[in-house]
Amino acid sequence: MVATGEQLMERIEQIQLPNQPESRVSMSSGISSVSMSSNHQVETVEESVTPLKQMTACYKQIIAHVGEDVNRQGLLKTPERAAKAMLDFTKGYEQNLDQLLNEAIFDEDHDEVVIVKDIDMFSLCEHHLVPFMGKVHIAYLPNKRVLGLSKLARVVDMFSRRLQVQERMTKQIATAITEAVQPHGVAVVIEATHMCMVMRGVQKANAMTTTSCMLGEFRENPKTRDEFLALIRK
Ligand SMILES: [Zn+2]
Repeated sequence: MVATGEQLMERIEQIQLPNQPESRVSMSSGISSVSMSSNHQVETVEESVTPLKQMTACYKQIIAHVGEDVNRQGLLKTPERAAKAMLDFTKGYEQNLDQLLNEAIFDEDHDEVVIVKDIDMFSLCEHHLVPFMGKVHIAYLPNKRVLGLSKLARVVDMFSRRLQVQERMTKQIATAITEAVQPHGVAVVIEATHMCMVMRGVQKANAMTTTSCMLGEFRENPKTRDEFLALIRK
């Protein structure tokens, strides 16, 4: 039996996903395997109802609710495309730091600051589900261990491809680097434009939000911090 959109929505509402990245992994095999708690399985809906199909049904409703005709030619495939895009924009939930940095941490007697600036970042504001995007600048002062340079961008990707607030993401990136290589210090600065500010509400197209997180030497030593800030402003 095929569920109508309405029935499907009702069922979806009944399912409370745990607030864990793992929830997506367990959902990928179908709704019937989502566990509400360790000893409680959600009632089986249909084996074939995947997260993609559920999200497609939801997007179809959204499109109808904004006043559009879901059967209009140009919109026929939009719900599924939108669902796929949303899964892609949030694929960071499927990654974790251990996997990501696997075999990219090296012993090295380098004791100068490592800086990577202008890392492109695209994320989704968790309050409005609209994009915010900008640049991430990262510096750390190694303590006998360094990270493969490309991994800094991968760390940014992992945290930005989730529902986010800029302040939290800034701290998560700094903390992740600290955990990975235990450096003498880490600095992360993010400059971003939020579409929820640009497109609605105050409508300030050029407003830029800057957040920073300074740990270790970058927090304690103004000279180290100022050097980093001067470098990223160049
Ligand atoms: Zn927002």
